[in-house]
Amino acid sequence: MPGEVLSLGYDELLDRLYSRMPTKGVEARIEIPPLEVETAGNHTKIKNFKLVCEIIGRDPRLVLRYLLKSMGAKGSLDSDGNAVIHQNVSRASLNKLFEKFVEMYVRCPTCHSYQSELIRRGRIWVLKCLGCGAETTVRPAW
Ligand SMILES: [Zn+2]
Repeated sequence: MPGEVLSLGYDELLDRLYSRMPTKGVEARIEIPPLEVETAGNHTKIKNFKLVCEIIGRDPRLVLRYLLKSMGAKGSLDSDGNAVIHQNVSRASLNKLFEKFVEMYVRCPTCHSYQSELIRRGRIWVLKCLGCGAETTVRPAW
């Protein structure tokens, strides 16, 4: 009934929209946008860092630590959740590193789903797939 939908508030409409989406684990493909990188002086800012980390379901602090360690750079998250790296890094090399992170710590090696969790069990980190349930031990590089 179209008339009924019009009487709903915005949040309710959103709820309806999301309830029609496939439940997690069913849909293996997610859209991961490239990192938006802005360089000023010798600082590099990743402007969509918070959003991208939300999409892959990883803690931004952990992703940032991985990036910094790989580059041997220093950096931090600003108050808006942007990553700020104290070094001049190109967009291409940052995206390449980020893709590597996704490949190693997000994508399930068994079914290639991106719907996964990273779980810490003592000193061991496990990539748990929400699609096929496979658990893969991963070596932390952060
Ligand atoms: Zn899987």
